[in-house]
Amino acid sequence: MKEGKELYKPGELPAGTHVEPCPVCGADAQLWQYSADFKAGPIEKVLMCSNGEKFGPQDGLTNEGCLLYMPPQDFYRGRIVEAVKYWNEYAKALNAQRRQRNWQRAQVLRETPPNVELNGAPLAARPSDRRERV
Ligand SMILES: [Zn+2]
Repeated sequence: MKEGKELYKPGELPAGTHVEPCPVCGADAQLWQYSADFKAGPIEKVLMCSNGEKFGPQDGLTNEGCLLYMPPQDFYRGRIVEAVKYWNEYAKALNAQRRQRNWQRAQVLRETPPNVELNGAPLAARPSDRRERV
């Protein structure tokens, strides 16, 4: 909840709207409405991460929660469909970057060192291991 902030009210997504999970922490995203004056408007729409839990080396109210618990101004849009589109595009792009980097990083683990034995024998069944244990 964005407690203590009358500038924010929860919004309701149209039925069937697909919203990507938070690309930072994986929590669900929530629709919020933002306005300095809900009667006169304008009312902006913004998807925000639902993870307001204090974790890691955080200190102080403004730093609590996921980085996208209070996303930057670009996430604030005039219409729900625009806010959802922005959030989803951001989430998909960030997830794609992470997948690609994880894949590249993991290639180090997939490479077979030139001196490794690939005889299929379990480690415990190797004669050299047996000798050491006897
Ligand atoms: Zn998050």
